[in-house]
Amino acid sequence: MLKYIIFILISIAVISCSSDEPPLPGDNDIVYVCTSGTAKTYHTFRDCGSIKQCSAEVLEVSRKKARENERIICMNCKNRENNNKPKDTLK
Ligand SMILES: [Zn+2]
Repeated sequence: MLKYIIFILISIAVISCSSDEPPLPGDNDIVYVCTSGTAKTYHTFRDCGSIKQCSAEVLEVSRKKARENERIICMNCKNRENNNKPKDTLK
């Protein structure tokens, strides 16, 4: 009986560990990052005004990679994404 309980506890531990980081939608999207040391954001639009001001190299990476490097989405790009979404409620 004790062995059975231990088996269940181990199973729970393994399951909770493996579901640590679920993949998010858009992880494979290509985003743009400025390699300047001060840049902390990534961009979803290549012609974003902020990325044009980048004095260093601009790299194309996956969104997953950008997040792994603790980049956050640029507010300009985020707002632009939202504006591009169809607004059915206005019709
Ligand atoms: Zn941007």
